[in-house]
Amino acid sequence: SGTLYVVATPIGNLEDIGARALRVLREVALIAAEDTRHSARLLQHFGIATPLVACHEHNERDQGGRLVGRLLAGEDLALISDAGTPLISDPGYHLVRNARAAGVRVVPVPGACALIAALSAAGLASDRFIFEGFLPARAAGRRQRLQALVEEPRTLIFYEAPHRLLESLEDMRVLFGDDRPAVLARELTKAFETIKGASLGELCAWVAADSNQQRGECVLLIEGWQAPVGEEALSAEALRVLDLLLAELP
Ligand code: SAM
Repeated sequence: SGTLYVVATPIGNLEDIGARALRVLREVALIAAEDTRHSARLLQHFGIATPLVACHEHNERDQGGRLVGRLLAGEDLALISDAGTPLISDPGYHLVRNARAAGVRVVPVPGACALIAALSAAGLASDRFIFEGFLPARAAGRRQRLQALVEEPRTLIFYEAPHRLLESLEDMRVLFGDDRPAVLARELTKAFETIKGASLGELCAWVAADSNQQRGECVLLIEGWQAPVGEEALSAEALRVLDLLLAELP
């Protein structure tokens, strides 16, 4: 059977597409894209004439079946989304799952991904992190999700739509506390790229005061919860030793 290539495309700066991605997009029989009109512009920019077919969240199950049929018939296909890596808060999961279940070879062609780009420049702990994608749109669902993350020790990464940025930041400030360090990574790889590190309290005030910061695309990163230092954090053994030492003091 053919191969399904999962190809990352730029998240803003067109120079971020790799030589291998361009070759694969040129050579496959068909490109499955989230939005064919959007991707047609990208392909045109690179002089690629490969036909496009729509594969988005509304038709992915049916279209996926047809595409797996073509893969099984021996054609090589590529999957792309509007920006960045397919499947990462983007369509493609059903197609990849069905292709693999049918025994089709699935090959990643890696490239841009907003959460990894943001983490690589944020200066927050990067050895362990969790990606939460988009928070629920409604306030109650959003707060519930955040509440469950209050004592998460790993760096937290969220995608956020510009019109919900301020509300989400406010909820984060209330639940995680004013002092929790955070980073707002906006318009990565684009002309107005901004990577602002501050406490959640400061970040809220900064975004509220400057409506430019509420435009464009953004990734929010929050430092993981740090166990409090002080008496509560001391182990039972440390407390026992401390008691013995205190008893020796005059
Ligand atoms: N598949 C994409 C990826 O690999 O990052 C993510 C797609 S998701 C539908 C779009 C979200 O990704 C935006 O709302 C924003 O949170 C984030 N994003 C995408 N491009 C970005 C950029 N240039 N700067 C900051 N965030 C970006």
